[in-house]
Amino acid sequence: MPHYDHLCNKCNKSFVIEMKISEVDKKKVPCPSCKSKDVTRQVTNNSFTSESVNRYVWDK
Ligand SMILES: [Zn+2]
Repeated sequence: MPHYDHLCNKCNKSFVIEMKISEVDKKKVPCPSCKSKDVTRQVTNNSFTSESVNRYVWDK
């Protein structure tokens, strides 16, 4: 599954969500930290695999 980098505009945390391409445009991903939906998806393709970034699986 592809990974998508996100940045929360509220708490400024970045996180990574795994989800299907077909779900990307349908779902608003909330920030796992503060639950805000004010989240920006970062459309980069250089999937940096930093260990400091939390990964989540969006499995609904
Ligand atoms: Zn947040």
